[in-house]
Amino acid sequence: DNGGPLLSVRGVTVRFGGIVALDGVSFDVPRHQVCGLIGPNGAGKTTLFNCLSRLYAYQAGDIVFDGESITAMPTHRIATLGMGRTFQNLAMFRTLPVRDNIMIGAHSRSASGFIASALRLPAVSAEERRLRQRADEIMEYLELTSVADRPAGDLPFGTQKRVEMGRALAADPKLLLLDEPAAGLNHEELADLGRLITDVRDRLKMTVLLVEHHMSLVMSVSDHIVALNFGKKIAEGTPAEIQRHPDVIAAYLGAP
Ligand code: ATP
Repeated sequence: DNGGPLLSVRGVTVRFGGIVALDGVSFDVPRHQVCGLIGPNGAGKTTLFNCLSRLYAYQAGDIVFDGESITAMPTHRIATLGMGRTFQNLAMFRTLPVRDNIMIGAHSRSASGFIASALRLPAVSAEERRLRQRADEIMEYLELTSVADRPAGDLPFGTQKRVEMGRALAADPKLLLLDEPAAGLNHEELADLGRLITDVRDRLKMTVLLVEHHMSLVMSVSDHIVALNFGKKIAEGTPAEIQRHPDVIAAYLGAP
């Protein structure tokens, strides 16, 4: 579309009673990049994700997605804009098969699917074929085809995390929000995750905003990193710049 950043966060402030969870945070996420969002526990990373998907209201500031302010946008429109998200506590249906979980993810982007199923139109079957085909593609991409019919909740944790990723990818989002995708993964799964994130950028042409505590993963996959502490942006730059930034080092070492 326009050549501007895909996402622009401008002076976003969120208070919970006396706690200022985000304090005038501003940054841009350019298109087709991986942007890392780091910071110690309680820095405000998840709160920011919740503002992007408008689960939380912000008291000040503006968020512009793909050239359009989402601040006053009706919630049902936000769902169709093209932001996909994974959750720290996996957000899938544990008793449903992997395939159904991913089909539900693909469905969430398509307004026509909603309308057709609400009205019980015969179009549902054509729509269902499309969703099934999309789910098959995603499962193949994530090497989940062999577990397509297994209940998602029965699978090993690392596989469940791939299902969660598939649910978010299936809607073909412009922006993929990943909330601690590395948490709980073993060494080999971590290496796979790193390759997957850069492949999502390079081959699927998506933009990724990555909240992650696993520093070597963030440093290896991010084009750009934003660091928060106590709700404020303390630094942004390339991984090399962030790694040697005195305020970032101090935040992680707990120095004053
Ligand atoms: P972590 O790395 O531990 O997930 P985080 O950087 O994601 O931390 P947030 O979860 O965004 O941090 O929390 C930022 C601050 O806002 C914390 O002080 C937290 O206690 C507070 N907070 C977040 N959500 C709420 C809420 N719903 N009600 C009250 N306080 C909240």
